[in-house]
Amino acid sequence: MNKPAIEGGEPVRSNKIYYSHQYIDDADVEAVVRVLRGDYLTCGPQIEETERRLCEVTGARYAVLCSSGTSALHMACMAAGVGEGDEVITTPITFAASANCALYCGGRPVFADIDEKTWQLDPACVEEKITERTKAVVAVDFGGQSVDHDRFLALREKYGFVYIEDGAHVIGSSYKGRKSGSIADMTTLSFHPVKTICGGEGGAVLTDNEAFYQRLLLYRSHGITRDPSRMEHVPDGPWYYEQVALAPNYRITDMQAALIASQLDKLDRFAARKKMLRKKYDEAFSEIPQLIVQRETEGSDSVRHLYILRLNPEKLSIDRARFFEAMGEENIVCNVHYIPTYWFPYYEKLGYARGLCPRAERLYEHMITIPFYYAMTDEDADDVIRAVQKLCKYYAV
Ligand SMILES: *Cc1c(COP(=O)(O)O)cnc(C)c1O
Repeated sequence: MNKPAIEGGEPVRSNKIYYSHQYIDDADVEAVVRVLRGDYLTCGPQIEETERRLCEVTGARYAVLCSSGTSALHMACMAAGVGEGDEVITTPITFAASANCALYCGGRPVFADIDEKTWQLDPACVEEKITERTKAVVAVDFGGQSVDHDRFLALREKYGFVYIEDGAHVIGSSYKGRKSGSIADMTTLSFHPVKTICGGEGGAVLTDNEAFYQRLLLYRSHGITRDPSRMEHVPDGPWYYEQVALAPNYRITDMQAALIASQLDKLDRFAARKKMLRKKYDEAFSEIPQLIVQRETEGSDSVRHLYILRLNPEKLSIDRARFFEAMGEENIVCNVHYIPTYWFPYYEKLGYARGLCPRAERLYEHMITIPFYYAMTDEDADDVIRAVQKLCKYYAV
């Protein structure tokens, strides 16, 4: 079924463009250097300062910075009380960390299918998977648009699970006038360089709940407390601290925290530019019969993190693998987000089998992530559009 490569002609651009890239300016560099010249490289004043900024930007009451989006998810599951035999419902179309966090706690990830149009975890499918063992739901704002919070909040009222939002893609977005990060019981963020805000590595958990906040502080650093009011024994001196739970070292450095704060100063700029780029792509791709674009969740004002095209196999003579390769030949290096988590050998060995979430699996077969990030130019975006148009026309059926 696959035709050979497009014969002759030049690629749409001569140098490669990748699906994502961070943007670092002089202010970012200076912010990091300032920390390096100071007294604290970790556990210093920059941590609380950046946490305060995160609360400002997201509307959350508390923020706990940590080493990655993955550790944020683990800390959130620990704070939610996920333990042996508990079930945590999530989407298969996500990075593996959204489900792994349940396994870290001895729990079991349960996969629910996605919505056909928004490609988000579908609340109706989640409800079908709820049992008396359901401890938490991890909803992922896939691609940067908000999940259908109102419906998840209604389910939470009805069944009483802890509602965790994996907001690795969502910073800057809002839902029905509320900023992402202040809606779910806990929202986790990631500051990996491909995400909207870059910290090199880094993550955070946001919450309005004081009890969760106190647990998150403990779980960030070995389960150790220095707060006498939280100790079981009477301190025998000012050096005294207590380990009251078991947790890893999930701290972040002050250099990373400074970089994150400096990046947050640019969030409005990042958001405005990404909205423009997204509009340009939506306009170019919506009318092409070979393509299906991601539809918006009702009420979401999104800052997209990823721009994903779904190929319409009925209108194309090539499959996704060949389309991906042909984009590469045009010097547009794409990616795929994501392989259904339970397809991985590790999950297969735990007893998960293909066919669990048919809509998610069908989406996976046809999706491709094209370059989309703040630092790309209008010319870059035009090149991407021209390459997609070229392939859709050449391989149209
Ligand atoms: C990036 C990402 C994570 C993990 O974040 P890290 O900072 O890389 O650990 C988790 N969930 C989703 C949806 C992500 O995209």
